[in-house]
Amino acid sequence: MKQTNKHYVSEKENDKQRQTESGRGRQRARVSPPTSLREAGAKGKERGSAMAASPLPFLLRLRALTLALTVVAAAGKIPASRTPISRDLYHSSDSLLLEIKDLVARHSEKLSMDTIRASNKGYSAELFVVTFNHVKESVDNGSKVHVLLSFGQHGRELITSEVALRLLYVLTEKHKIAGVDLSSFEKMLENLVIKMVPMENLNGRKRVEAGELCDRRNGRGVDLNRNWSVDWGKKEKDYDPYEENPGFAPFSEPEAQIMRELARSFKPHIWVNIHSGMEALFMPYDHKNTTPNGASAHLMRSVLENLNRRHFQDSCLVGSGGGAVGYFAHGTTTDYMYDIGKVPMPFTFEIYGDETASNNDCFKMFNPVDKTTFDRVINKWCMAFLILFEEGLRNLRDAQLVSQGPLDNWVPIGGDIVEQSVARKIGRERRKLEGLDLGMQELRTYFRLFMLSTFLLMFMFCTRISSNRQRDSGNIFST
Ligand SMILES: [Zn+2]
Repeated sequence: MKQTNKHYVSEKENDKQRQTESGRGRQRARVSPPTSLREAGAKGKERGSAMAASPLPFLLRLRALTLALTVVAAAGKIPASRTPISRDLYHSSDSLLLEIKDLVARHSEKLSMDTIRASNKGYSAELFVVTFNHVKESVDNGSKVHVLLSFGQHGRELITSEVALRLLYVLTEKHKIAGVDLSSFEKMLENLVIKMVPMENLNGRKRVEAGELCDRRNGRGVDLNRNWSVDWGKKEKDYDPYEENPGFAPFSEPEAQIMRELARSFKPHIWVNIHSGMEALFMPYDHKNTTPNGASAHLMRSVLENLNRRHFQDSCLVGSGGGAVGYFAHGTTTDYMYDIGKVPMPFTFEIYGDETASNNDCFKMFNPVDKTTFDRVINKWCMAFLILFEEGLRNLRDAQLVSQGPLDNWVPIGGDIVEQSVARKIGRERRKLEGLDLGMQELRTYFRLFMLSTFLLMFMFCTRISSNRQRDSGNIFST
């Protein structure tokens, strides 16, 4: 179905177009249509009065024609109308949160919720983290695969948080997606601990709900997917501060700090950053045009390709974010999760994009606006996550990154391991230097022994010569 090409209008490309055509912009787009019309009308009036004073009918007709053309030209500049948030389809952030809380209360044996707050330089943020852990005595908690999912990192991508909510229902209450029986996944789910952040950018989302439909940044204008430390702050030629403001330092934003701590403590094996703007399954890297080398990259690619084949009929774009989209993003979460967090399977999923939406019609560009598409997208991606979990679990076990059972086979992956490996590396370097030092000492000792033995040999040689001479001279005297 070549959805890949169809949706090959990346979020950023859309953003760029929006920026260049309407955005730098955006105020101009907002103001210009009525202004243009008003200007045309005013000019028309003036011309009308001038025409009435003109005695020449030909000139009158000419001016009328000019006026008509002016009005038509002005009308051509009117941007397409902006689609408002479909309140009948989409939850408000408050109602979404309430519904999640109700769900957690109803399924306390499987779900729990934490609220984490942080602040930095006068700006505060609050994140809600829902944990799914189906505790069974037959399954050792230590052998479970850890999955961390974040939705709504960009404020305007409301559809992602709706997927989060539906996925929670799928995990707990609804045993079918679009009529498909999910009982075959039940056993697999017992081997997972899933942590979900349904609205990573709650402050930014509230701005969108208040009417800033094109805003993707957090509550103080920072792009949370540019605030992480890998390749942070690098700016491409087409850098656009409205879209990609990385903040004043890596992890300057409380939302990013909370997510980093969550990843450090939870040590996920699978991380997915869920966005909208196009349809794609991305792996690292975002900041360069390559995927990582070696077995880990092979593992990630294999999981994504299986998911693409099994669920999307190979229609999704698969590859590195930087390579497949055609632009580089610096300081992204997924690159950090791979390079620093050592998460074996870090992904970015782009779940929906409408390339027919006009450049400043952001809600429509990033979110389905009719019920059929809304349900289709949600069902499709809920099922995609179940298949991802299944593929991830199998591949992680095959690669022996997680054990089949007992706790002592457990190989945790995460920040502590990074620190340990750094410590180990420093230790190795130190031992190397120590070895070098020892070698120098040995050399010195050998040199001294060599000099001593040479001296002894010389001494013996000289003694021998002198004794021979004495003997020889004695012989002379004796002969
Ligand atoms: Zn996004």
